[in-house]
Amino acid sequence: MSTDTNRLVIFDTTLRDGEQSPGCSMNLAEKLQVAHALKDLGVDVIEAGFPIASPGDFESVQAIARQVHGPVICGLARCNAADIERAWGALKDAPKPRIHVFLATSAIHREFKLKMAREEIIRRAVEAVKLARSLCADIEFSPEDASRTELDFLAEVVEKVIEAGATTLNIPDTVGFAVPSHYAAIMAYLKKNVRGIENVILSVHCHNDLGLAVANSLAALMEGARQVECTVNGIGERAGNCALEELVMAVRTRTDFYNLEVGVNTKKIYPISRLLSHVTGMTVQRNKAIVGQNAFAHEAGIHQDGMLKHASTYEIMNPEEIGLPRTELVLGKHSGRHALKQRITDLGYVLTPEQLDRVFDSFKQLADRKKTIYDADIEALAEAQIHSGPAVWTLEAVTVNAGSATIPMAAVCLWHRDGVIRKDASLGDGPIDAVFKAIERITGIEVKLLDFRIRAVTGGEDALGEAHLEAEYDGKNFAGRAVSTDIIEASALAFLQVINRVALRKSLTEKRILPTQSESA
Ligand SMILES: [Zn+2]
Repeated sequence: MSTDTNRLVIFDTTLRDGEQSPGCSMNLAEKLQVAHALKDLGVDVIEAGFPIASPGDFESVQAIARQVHGPVICGLARCNAADIERAWGALKDAPKPRIHVFLATSAIHREFKLKMAREEIIRRAVEAVKLARSLCADIEFSPEDASRTELDFLAEVVEKVIEAGATTLNIPDTVGFAVPSHYAAIMAYLKKNVRGIENVILSVHCHNDLGLAVANSLAALMEGARQVECTVNGIGERAGNCALEELVMAVRTRTDFYNLEVGVNTKKIYPISRLLSHVTGMTVQRNKAIVGQNAFAHEAGIHQDGMLKHASTYEIMNPEEIGLPRTELVLGKHSGRHALKQRITDLGYVLTPEQLDRVFDSFKQLADRKKTIYDADIEALAEAQIHSGPAVWTLEAVTVNAGSATIPMAAVCLWHRDGVIRKDASLGDGPIDAVFKAIERITGIEVKLLDFRIRAVTGGEDALGEAHLEAEYDGKNFAGRAVSTDIIEASALAFLQVINRVALRKSLTEKRILPTQSESA
């Protein structure tokens, strides 16, 4: 790792902290896709998972360690030999592996969770770091819940793990309790009171429970922290983690203030934000900083006038810097395959020739129904093609019968990948409910719907409708998203995506590639 004191290490934990949050679980293929995109983005460290958590976690950390070269690949472990050896087993083929060990240090965790005295905590942490260091040269240690730990004890733990061989020292605000000046004061205290701290990289890991994850991380940089742990779109436990795009753009936009170097290629920020949102089904809020749909939109007349005279009157960042094309090139019926392909590439998608063919077909169909086709339409078509995992069921046809005086009814025809076509019909509380019930009858998979939304992708009466839904099956959450000019069809496709994810998971647990609910911790 760089020893330049002005180099900021970007440690991405989208695949670990992010992935373990509700509604964000990803399968192996999806994790690999995100890991490759993180490498292209230029992050320094990828925390790929928690190998002992499940066989699936182990397998994905191992696959990333073997296939994604460039960044340091990191795996998480608790302070015990089994965890550390399992982490090393998954990481050992990486050209640059890192083991990240953690142990809670706050009084509340010591007393209620671990039931360990201070001396026991230190002994365990030191032993674990020594064991990890005997396997791997790059070791990170995190005193979990550091921001609620007594400062003198925190300093003691930290000093001992540095002596034991830790090379990066992370100070997590696990529960999102810190505020900027408090968090900065913890860093300053450690810098002043811990022997050997100048020899390790000081790191921060902040949660957004008070909306302060980015602010706390930035405050710590002023006290010498040189690694920030963050996630794309700020996903993560509860209110999420420090958002990578916000942190990076703050440091970049205010180089005058921070004077720090980051290795991230900011032009890849927008594409990876879209990719993650597609893969997880977790949409980005409209007014989200940097990557939200409104982040660079100017509505007020006086602002638009200023913008036209000189962009910097109302814009502190150039949208092209984050990979968002400023001009919305409008495509239509007469646009050719080449123009479409170019646009898809500009929007950050990498499609196979077969996927491109299918996007072109649906583009032509859409162009017949809709005069102007915007970037958002093209993104929706491209995303619909990037299938995550093989589809077990495909929609052949859906018909609904609804109205004010009839009982809503739906007939659905599905095609199974084994070649069988199956049809069924169902009544429902409404036409969409009837469609979902018919799909459940055919597939034999019943899920509990948690969230269901329909929105127009672009303006106008001929807009594409996007259906987004989240459902629960066997204690796990699954998300689905689909687009069509017909909202019934969009809803059926999104629901079928969820059913396919459940079916895929079921087949993996039956083959014992993934643990069942009762086996996983
Ligand atoms: Zn966390």
